[in-house]
Amino acid sequence: MEQQYVCLVCGYNMVGYLPDNCPFCGAHSKNFITARECSERFSVVQTPVNDSVTRLNSSPSLGLEHAAYTVDTGAGVIMIDCPSTFDPTFPPLDHIIFTHHHFLGASNLYRSELGSKVRIHRLDSDNDLTRGFVFDNTFDRGFVENGLEAYPIDGHTPGFTFYLFEDVLFICDYIFMKEGRVRMFNRFGPAGKTATGGQRLLDLLSGRTINTVCGYNYVTDFPGWVEGVEGLLGENHRKR
Ligand SMILES: [Zn+2]
Ligand SMILES: [Zn+2]
Repeated sequence: MEQQYVCLVCGYNMVGYLPDNCPFCGAHSKNFITARECSERFSVVQTPVNDSVTRLNSSPSLGLEHAAYTVDTGAGVIMIDCPSTFDPTFPPLDHIIFTHHHFLGASNLYRSELGSKVRIHRLDSDNDLTRGFVFDNTFDRGFVENGLEAYPIDGHTPGFTFYLFEDVLFICDYIFMKEGRVRMFNRFGPAGKTATGGQRLLDLLSGRTINTVCGYNYVTDFPGWVEGVEGLLGENHRKR
């Protein structure tokens, strides 16, 4: 394991360098541990969402880390986003694919240790937060592969991509919930573009049968969630 540090405030992995402050959250380097210590102190807990989807979180919880998910497509296992902790006991993993570049986790270690192929939208593949990370493939457009559907919608980040697998939607941190209710679009990023991407999301989901939404800190039923998102877009219209 080469020099790699994990910020305990946000969970961001710094690959191959040691800055004074975390590039993601700005925390001082006294809050960093090595990735090796991280693997010793934390593990990755797997919580089933349904027969093919599993939620992943570092345990104990690690800063602002966002939930990642695995999908067993029947033709291989895909991880959507990646935990901050590299867990050497993790089962074989064919692909890691990102919604966006904010929480790349320890994906470089899963890649090198488990041989997983890593993919992200091209527009999110080259910036300050991707330093040290390797992507085997980038994409510009949506695609369908082994039942996993990818839909870039821009907004929160230029390459933000949501995924569908059967009746499950993976939306990471595009939409915030609090106390079980949709509250707002992600505030970090261009507000206008994020709302436009939100409308694109609703258009792409219309007519589809979705039951479950997997977000960065929630798994929730689709009907209440989508009603909340429609409400947010209604508010945006009224503000204009
Ligand atoms: Zn940080
Ligand atoms: Zn984000």
